[in-house]
Amino acid sequence: MLGLMMDRPLLIKDILENAVANFPDQEIVTRTVEGPIHRYTYAEANVRIRKLANALKANGVKKGDRIGVIGWNTFRQFELYYALAGIGAVCHTINPRLGPENAGYVINHAGDEWIFFDTTFTPLIEALAPHLKSVKNFVSLTDKTSMPDFSAGELRSYEDMIADASDEIVWEIFDENTASGLCYTSGTTGVPKGVLYSHRSTVLQSYAANLPTSLNMQVGDCVLPVVPMFHVNAWNIPYACLMIGAKMVFPGPALDGESLATLMEDEEVQFSLGVPTVWLGLLQYLDGAGKTLKHMKKTLVGGSALPEKIVRGFKKHDVEVIQGWGMTEMSPLGTTMSLTPAERSLPEDEQIAITLKQGRAIFGVEMRLVDVDGHVLPHDGEHEGHLQVRGPWIVKEYYNHDKDILTVDGWFDTGDVATIDRTGIMQITDRAKDVIKSGGEWVSSIDIENAAMSHEGVAQAAVIAAKHPKWDERPLLLVVRAAGSSVTADEVKAYIAERLPKIAWPDAVEFIDELPLGATGKVLKTKLREQFKDYELAS
Ligand code: AMP
Repeated sequence: MLGLMMDRPLLIKDILENAVANFPDQEIVTRTVEGPIHRYTYAEANVRIRKLANALKANGVKKGDRIGVIGWNTFRQFELYYALAGIGAVCHTINPRLGPENAGYVINHAGDEWIFFDTTFTPLIEALAPHLKSVKNFVSLTDKTSMPDFSAGELRSYEDMIADASDEIVWEIFDENTASGLCYTSGTTGVPKGVLYSHRSTVLQSYAANLPTSLNMQVGDCVLPVVPMFHVNAWNIPYACLMIGAKMVFPGPALDGESLATLMEDEEVQFSLGVPTVWLGLLQYLDGAGKTLKHMKKTLVGGSALPEKIVRGFKKHDVEVIQGWGMTEMSPLGTTMSLTPAERSLPEDEQIAITLKQGRAIFGVEMRLVDVDGHVLPHDGEHEGHLQVRGPWIVKEYYNHDKDILTVDGWFDTGDVATIDRTGIMQITDRAKDVIKSGGEWVSSIDIENAAMSHEGVAQAAVIAAKHPKWDERPLLLVVRAAGSSVTADEVKAYIAERLPKIAWPDAVEFIDELPLGATGKVLKTKLREQFKDYELAS
C-alpha cells in the first residue's frame, strides 16, 4: 500500500520563495570584486534573481542548457545559482585554478553556451576563447563602468543584461530530478569528470546540512562561506542558509587573513567554512596582529585533513572547530565530527583527538568499508578498508562519461581508506586514489608525470604528495634519468612550468635509480609514499 501524501517535487526555487516569505529583511553582504561592500536583503535579491531569470530566458537560455560561471563568492554568482536553477538550466561552476587547458576541456565537455565571469578572470577567458566550441555569449559579472577590455569577442555587462528585465515570473514546476548544477572534479584520476547535481539532491543535502548533528546553524546566524562557490556549491551554504534565514557574507576575492578577519568583525560573523589553508592564514594574521574574533563561534573545516594546530589555534579565540568530510561526488557533505555530550565531557586533549577524526555520517549517507577483494569489513575502529558510500545526493554516473562507476551492488568507492568505529566515527587513514590535495584543490599526479616524461632527459617519473606547512600537500616529483642524461631538478621544473598551470608545478624534484613496480608493471605509489613519508617541503 502506498502512502497518501502529496507528491510535490523538491525544487530549488522553493528554497528562495520560502526564504523571501519568511525572512525578507535578512541580509546578504558581499565584498565585491570592484572593492566596495555591497549589501541587500533577501527580498531585494529575489527581485534581481527574477530579473536575471527573465533576461536569460529572453536571450534564449532554455531548460537543460549548461551555463558556465567562473567567479568569486559574490551576490552575483549567488543570483546565478537561483535564476539558472529556477528556469531549469544548469549552473556549471568552473574552478579558475584548473588552468586554461583543463578549464577549456570542461567548458567544451559540458557544452556551455554562456560564460559568466568575474573581471579578475578576463585574461583566462581571453586565452581560452579560441579553443571553446559551444560558447556563444560572454558576460562580465560587473556593471558598465567596470567593464574590462576584452579581445575575444562581444562582451556584455551583467548589470546591463538584467537592468530592463521584468521581475514578474511564475516559476515552472518540473521534475525534481532535473539537473541544476554541474561541477567537475579530478578527484580520482587526472581527467576532470562532471558531477551533475539535481534539484532533489541539492534540496535534500541542504536539509541534511541543517541538522543539529551537521552544521547546526541557527535562525539569524551570520555565516561566511570561504569555501568557493566554484567548489561543490560552496558546500551548499547558499541553499542551507536561505532555508533557515541566516545572514550570508560573501568574501569576494580577498581571502587573505587580514581581509577575512576585518570582514568577519565588521559583519559580526558567527560561523565560517573553509579548507585548512585558509584558516592557517587567518590564524597567523590574528596572532601577528594581536587580534581576536569577537563574534565567531565555530568553523567547519573540510576538504583536507584537519591539522591539530588549527583546532588549538581557534580554541585561543574561543572558536569551536568542526571537521567535515565529503567529496564533489557527494554534493559534498558525508560526515561531520560533532561531539556528543559524553565526548564533550572528556578531558580537552581527548576531545581534540576525536575532533581530528572525520566524523559520523550525516543522515542520508551510508558508509561501509571493504577490503581489496570487496569483502565488507567490521566497524570496530581497527579494520582499515576502502570507504564506500551511498545515498540520495551521491553521484551514480559522471556527466557524458560512459563508464560504470558504482560497485555491482550500488556503492560509490570514495578512493579514501578509513576505519569506522562502533559509534560510527570514520577516520581516514590513507588514500587509494593517485592525487594530491593542495590547499583544498586537486593536483593531478598524472598530468605532472606526463609532462615530466616528455622531457628527453627523463626515463620515468612518478609524483606523490609530500607534506607542506601551508598547502597541506604539494607534489614531489621522483625522476629516473634517461641513460646518459644529467638533467637537473631546476631544468625539469622549468620544463614543466612551461606546460602546466602553476598549481601543478612540483615543489621538489628528486632523482632515484628506479621506480618500484607491481606485478602488472604499475608504479607502486604506496612504496614511494612509505619511502618518502618523512619528506618535508619548506614553506
Ligand atoms: P573534493 O571532491 O575536492 O571535495 O575532494 C574530496 C576528497 O578530499 C575526499 O575524498 C578526501 O580524499 C579529501 N577530503 C575531504 N575532506 C577531508 C577531510 N576532512 N579529511 C581528509 N581528507 C578529506
